[in-house]
Amino acid sequence: MQKYKDIGLKLTPQRLAILDFLDGNMDHPSADDIYKAVSVRYPTMSFATVYNTLDSLREKGYITELTIDPAKKRFDPCTKMHHHLICTSCKRVHDIHADFLLELPEQVKGDFRVTGNHIEFYGLCPTCDKGHERRI
Ligand SMILES: [Zn+2]
Ligand SMILES: [Zn+2]
Repeated sequence: MQKYKDIGLKLTPQRLAILDFLDGNMDHPSADDIYKAVSVRYPTMSFATVYNTLDSLREKGYITELTIDPAKKRFDPCTKMHHHLICTSCKRVHDIHADFLLELPEQVKGDFRVTGNHIEFYGLCPTCDKGHERRI
């Protein structure tokens, strides 16, 4: 709990449960996933509480909001710059912590000072790929 001390939010048990769920979570859960997981322990918690907490955490830079899934916003507690490998079938998202040397051509970049990038790789995870083969 010490680690959440500086987060600048009033730490209610519900919020702590949300933070605990997110801590080290690599599933890139949606607000709905988080709500479902945390409401097991806090059945009276409203979806709005989850949503507002996520919004505050995002504003303060503790989590990143991902727009990789058009159907729903997903959240990433890993705010270190990284890339994503996305299964288009089961929507699982894997983190890729690697640097790719991507240079924008001068005529594209102009005076823009590029400080980062986020690459999304799409495809089929091994599980979905196997299922796909079976169907054919
Ligand atoms: Zn998959
Ligand atoms: Zn990620």
